[in-house]
Amino acid sequence: MTRFAFDIHATDGKARTGTIRMERGEIRTPAFMPVGTAATVKAMKVEDVRAAGADIILGNTYHLMLRPGAERVARLGGLHKFMGWDRPILTDSGGYQVMSLSDLRKITEEGVTFASHLDGSRHMLSPERSMEIQRLLGSDIVMCFDECPRADQPRDAIEKSMEMSMRWARRSRDAFDAGGDHAARSALFGIQQGALDEGLRKASADALADIGFDGYAIGGLAVGEGQEAMFATLDFAPGQLPADRPRYLMGVGKPDDLVGAVERGVDMFDCVLPTRSGRNGQAFTWNGPLNLRNARHAEDTGPLDERCPCPVCTKYSRAYLNHLHKSGEMLGAMLLTEHNLWFYQQLMAGMRAAIADGKFTDFASGFRRDYFNH
Ligand SMILES: [Zn+2]
Repeated sequence: MTRFAFDIHATDGKARTGTIRMERGEIRTPAFMPVGTAATVKAMKVEDVRAAGADIILGNTYHLMLRPGAERVARLGGLHKFMGWDRPILTDSGGYQVMSLSDLRKITEEGVTFASHLDGSRHMLSPERSMEIQRLLGSDIVMCFDECPRADQPRDAIEKSMEMSMRWARRSRDAFDAGGDHAARSALFGIQQGALDEGLRKASADALADIGFDGYAIGGLAVGEGQEAMFATLDFAPGQLPADRPRYLMGVGKPDDLVGAVERGVDMFDCVLPTRSGRNGQAFTWNGPLNLRNARHAEDTGPLDERCPCPVCTKYSRAYLNHLHKSGEMLGAMLLTEHNLWFYQQLMAGMRAAIADGKFTDFASGFRRDYFNH
């Protein structure tokens, strides 16, 4: 049984396509992971997430530790059994969401103490506790506990934060390795920090490679710096990481972000955008985003996207989706989320096929022509 293997089948420029093999299934890369924050990909049944083409989903340590609690999930047989998803799950470390969601944070070398955004109760996260929670959940791909500083801080603050994250990466590695059977069946990813600074990114990449991980995430991007600055950083950051391991850009992104990041050598992504947008009336299509609340769709009998083979586009009209969203009907959120997840997975499949055929440049320029000129 394979614990974790990554084979790159083809490259085209910096873009790569391959397969990650794990006990619970294969992950085709470039891969998009739908976000299942609270043990659910919002508004979707897991069988429909799979039907859309997802090989792996993401769970959030911060949310699950607070509700229903990691120990409870473990007593109930683990996150896979709890939510009915039997394929790989990646869990984040909780670090990023503690910084963005909780109140009264106190960060020390030991870890972070904070108050729950739900009820104000006091909690602690450290590299050791984060590894324990991810083990209790039964995660397949475990993320190191790190600090994600705001990108607009001075360089010395970014450097100090990155260096602490690298010490936390070492502690995460040691705590993960002590996890017995879970460590023997799952993988651990390190997270590169260093904001937009090439030298700090390199120092972080070297520190992580020295510890050794199954895959490497690029953290600290998509935190408000804008696409131009993100792409400028991705011009060098992926190439600093070990070439034979998957590279995961955390929290990204819009369809055009994904194409630009794959072009720069990224293999894995997660983002709430397709699911959150689906609940807000926004659909992604090959001809750009659409707001289904707009009155221009009220008598449009056509599908959301002529090119989309999803169960929504083959059955329902824009007029019906407009009505559901104007009326606040929950089916509107469900149908738009389903289409958006299909669209994201079709985009990834299109990129994988184009890389395999050596035609990624054509694919990317065709995508941008259709997506931005509508
Ligand atoms: Zn569709």
